[in-house]
Amino acid sequence: MSHQTPQPDPLTSGPHDPEHDPSASYALEPDYVAALTDRIVSTSGETKLSVSPINNQPLAHIPQSSEADVVEAFARARRAQQAWARTSLDHRAEVMLRLHDLVLDREQEIVDLAVWESGKARKDAYLEVYHVALTARYYARTAHKHLDPKRLAGIIPGATRVDLNRVPKGVVGIIAPWNYPFTMALCDGLPALAAGNAVVIKPDSQTVLTALIGAQILEEAGFPKDLWGVVSGPGSRVGTSVINKADYICFTGSTATGKKVAAGCAERLIGCSLELGGKNPILILRDAAIEKAAEGATRAAFSNAGQLCVSTERMLVADQIYDRFVERFVARTEALVLGPGHEWTTDVGSLISQDQLDTVTAHVEDAVAKGAKVLAGGKARPDLGPYFYEPTILEGVTEEMTCFGNETFGPVISVYRFHDETQAIAKANEGPYGLNASIYSQDGTRARAIAREIKCGTVNINEGFGATFASVDAPMGGMLESGMGRRQGAEGIHRYTEAQAVGTQRVWGFRPPVGVSNERFANVLTLSARVMKKLGRA
Ligand code: NAD
Repeated sequence: MSHQTPQPDPLTSGPHDPEHDPSASYALEPDYVAALTDRIVSTSGETKLSVSPINNQPLAHIPQSSEADVVEAFARARRAQQAWARTSLDHRAEVMLRLHDLVLDREQEIVDLAVWESGKARKDAYLEVYHVALTARYYARTAHKHLDPKRLAGIIPGATRVDLNRVPKGVVGIIAPWNYPFTMALCDGLPALAAGNAVVIKPDSQTVLTALIGAQILEEAGFPKDLWGVVSGPGSRVGTSVINKADYICFTGSTATGKKVAAGCAERLIGCSLELGGKNPILILRDAAIEKAAEGATRAAFSNAGQLCVSTERMLVADQIYDRFVERFVARTEALVLGPGHEWTTDVGSLISQDQLDTVTAHVEDAVAKGAKVLAGGKARPDLGPYFYEPTILEGVTEEMTCFGNETFGPVISVYRFHDETQAIAKANEGPYGLNASIYSQDGTRARAIAREIKCGTVNINEGFGATFASVDAPMGGMLESGMGRRQGAEGIHRYTEAQAVGTQRVWGFRPPVGVSNERFANVLTLSARVMKKLGRA
């Protein structure tokens, strides 16, 4: 396993308990941080120190929001939304295209901040920026297609006109995770704004700053400030307050929390989309191009240090190529560069926290204690930073091991051999999740046929997850316990609207004409129904 030696950094010599030491040196300029944290709706006076997972150096004191602050954020957003809903789609698209350019202009700054705050590799942070730009451009260019009123077929051709309007829900609450703090904040919010809504977002407590830079750029692009409120604090308290005020909830996080969020939304009868966990399979079929598949599989498993909802944790390899493929997969994994993510050359960055490191360590230790074999990695790397863990490949994982069916959400993948494809499909479909799958094969037609048998919201062929995730016209989300609803594409924007039907009866009401009995009128309707069916009409 190669690694980058951490750069000697004068700032890293800070004390171990910065919360109680006023002389602590900060990784980021305090004025820069204050310009961001000022955007949090918070009057509580309470703050929480955030530290960088790269070296435990302090980043900022993050103001915490009380329940009253959440109420205030929603009141402001609601006022802003009323004016915003009356703006034209062309205006919204124009602002969104400005955002596209601003995000690309400030790419380095956003990436630096995301790296400090989440510990991820620079290339993974860059993809967040790129994905936000893609999403902004997509919804700017397709706003009319998705949102313009549409004419639908009326019951009586020529006499009944029906229009479909897309009415904004109002104020959308977004509850976001820490793993992709820039894209998970903005990419779900942009379609909400495009559809005429306001947003109040509660980022994860560990990555508030990266979400705040998004809020700053939104305002700079021309979105009214109060249209995008930011509140902060623990999910169980502030997240619950958001659910209690929102007209719709977009939640991304674990399945366990997602179930609580769904229950809260059900209580208020508001809609929600839930983007949850996974235990994603990757199938390497017997005709896969071995080197290409080994390269793709390392990205599929270890991008963002495996802290990616769509990354793969279960690998099913055809018997015929198992030994050759696994040898290449192990070699490529061992060649990955592990280290702090300030440089573009890092492949795998840090995990975000002690909790994540504990989970990953526990999954690997449990598997090894029960007989699994470590083919690559298998240990923490405190020499690189507090939460680094080597990209790890396990073989011989069995049902009684924790990592068999539970999401690790870290750089750990288990490799299994399969003898026929029916068996591989059945294994891929095992378990409660259905988020993402990938298939490597040189026969696209066969791979697409197999994709239809797999119960996952996205299936990527000859790619881990990028072919669907970066294709923002494609819906993205989970089946089964991986979620409800979809982000991206038409579904990703329509979720934030109420479909309103407006029927206009031009001539003749829904009653028998004068002098015609109810019975005769019913006979005419029955006859017309039979004729319409014969004519092939819907
Ligand atoms: P998490 O569920 O712990 O937290 C997610 C968010 O919910 C955070 O902002 C948190 O503060 C908030 N929260 C916590 N308890 C809450 C409550 N009771 N009510 C309301 N909000 C609450 O998840 P996490 O550890 O931050 O993220 C990792 C998980 O997210 C993994 O399971 C991963 O697979 C999943 N994820 C899914 C997708 C997807 O698109 N399907 C994308 C990214 C992450």
